[in-house]
Amino acid sequence: MTASAPRYMARFRCIAEACEDTCCAGLTVPISESRWSLLRQKVAGGPDEARVSALITPNPDGATGQQAGILGKRADGHCAFLDEAKLCSLQRRYGEAVLPDGCSVFPRVLTRWGAQVEMAGSLACPETARLCLLAEDALVREPVPEEQALRPQVARQVAAGDDAWTAHADTVREAMLRLLARREVPFAVRLFALGRMALDLGDFYFPGTTAFAPTGEASPHPGTSGVEEAAAPETREPMADSALDARGASRHPGASEDVDASASETWEPMVDSAPDASDARAEAAGERLASILREYESTDTLASLHAQLEALELPGGPWAGICGAVLRSREAAVSSPRFLSLMHDVRASYGGADTHPDEAWQLHATRRSALESLHGERVHQYFLHHALNHVLRHPFTEAASLLNAMFLLVLRASVVRWVLLGHPAVVALLDTPGTPLATLDAAAVEAFQGVAKHVEQAPSFLEFAKGLAGEGPETFARLLILVKGL
Ligand code: SF4
Repeated sequence: MTASAPRYMARFRCIAEACEDTCCAGLTVPISESRWSLLRQKVAGGPDEARVSALITPNPDGATGQQAGILGKRADGHCAFLDEAKLCSLQRRYGEAVLPDGCSVFPRVLTRWGAQVEMAGSLACPETARLCLLAEDALVREPVPEEQALRPQVARQVAAGDDAWTAHADTVREAMLRLLARREVPFAVRLFALGRMALDLGDFYFPGTTAFAPTGEASPHPGTSGVEEAAAPETREPMADSALDARGASRHPGASEDVDASASETWEPMVDSAPDASDARAEAAGERLASILREYESTDTLASLHAQLEALELPGGPWAGICGAVLRSREAAVSSPRFLSLMHDVRASYGGADTHPDEAWQLHATRRSALESLHGERVHQYFLHHALNHVLRHPFTEAASLLNAMFLLVLRASVVRWVLLGHPAVVALLDTPGTPLATLDAAAVEAFQGVAKHVEQAPSFLEFAKGLAGEGPETFARLLILVKGL
C-alpha cells in the first residue's frame, strides 16, 4: 500500500492539552463492535469496567458494525473519557488500539483511489486548519510513510474503477485542482468555470452513467442516482429555505454574449443500437470528457468566463440571507460556547438578527473590498487552500453529481467568507490597517475551523444544501448567486 498526503497533513501532530478547541468535545463519537469488545476485554475486572459499560451505549439509531456504540459526553459536551489534563484516559491506560476509529484517525480523512491511500485533513481541528491555511506550500501532495495513515483499513473506497463515474474521477479531479490553481483569473471566476465545466459534463458523466459502457442500454437521467455525501454523526433540526431567485448561463463558455439563462433546458438520454457503434459511442464519450476538460483549461475560455461573470449583475441580499440562515440554524443545534460566542459576534457585526439581508450584504461588500486591498493575497490563500483541500477531503464521487459537489464547495466557502468578514478581529483591523497579519490569520483559523466543525458536515446543513441546490441547470443558476457573493 502506498499513501500520499498534502504537506500540511504530513506535518500534523496533535497538540492535545494545548489545543484551543479539542476534538474531544462537540462531536458525537461512534465506536465499532470490534473496538468496543477489545476495550471491554482490556477493562474487564479493572477500575474502568463499570465506567466503560455505563458510558458507552448502543447506537440509538440501531446501527451495528462500525457505528455499533456511541461514547458518552459530559454536561459540557466533552467526551466522558477526557481527563482533567485534557488527555484521553482510555488511550493513556489501555493504548491506541482500544480507541474508536474516529478518535484514532481524526483529523485525518482517509480515502482509497485504486490501491493508493490518500490522507487529507479535516479543518475541524484548529491545528490542521492552521497548517492548511497559513503555509504557502501546504497543499503540495507527496508520498507519506504508510504508518502515517494510522488505520488505512477505514479508508473510504473512492475510485475502484469498475464504473465510468469513478474510472474517470482522478482525471476530472486533477483538472479541478489545476483549474482552482489558475491565479491569472480571480478565485470566483475559477469557481464559476468549475461550475460550468460540471454543467457541461453533467449530461453524460454522472453516477451510473452508461455513456462510456460498450453496451446498448440507455443512460438514466442525471441526478437520479441518489448517492449522498457521508456526514459526521452530529444531528439536529432542519431549517427554512427562503432567499432564492436566480438566473443561469448559456452552454458555450467561449460565447461572448451576456450570460442569460434558460431554466427549462432538458437533459437528452444517450441511446444506440449496433454493438460496434456503442464502442465508438463509448470512445466518443471519453473523448468528449477530455475535450471539455481541455476547453475549461484554455486561457481564452477563462478570459471569456471572467468577462461574463464581471458583466453579471446579481443582488447580494440573497447570498447574505443564505449565509445568515445557515448559521442561525446551526446555532440552534450546537452547544459549543466557543462557536456560539463567535456566531453572536458575527451577527452583531452585521447589525443583529433583524438586519435586512440587503443591508447586511452592503456591510459585507464594503468589508470585502477593504480587506481585499489590505490583505487580498493572504485571504486568497485561505480560500484557495480551503477549496483545494475540499476537493481532496470530499471526493466528488460521493455526491449526486459533479455540479452538486461544486455547489457544496461554494456554499461552504460562502458561509466561511460571511463569518470571516463578520469576525470582530477582522472588523477591527479594517479600521486599524497596521494590525499584524497574525491577527488576521488567527481570525481566519477560527472562522474556517468553527464552520468545518459545526456546519460543514452536519446532516441538517447537508439536507439544506441539497434542497437549496435543486437539480441540473437550476443548481448552476443557484451556484452563480453564491459565486457572486464570494
Ligand atoms: S482538535 Fe486536533 S489538535 Fe485538538 S485535540 Fe483534536 S486532533 Fe488534537
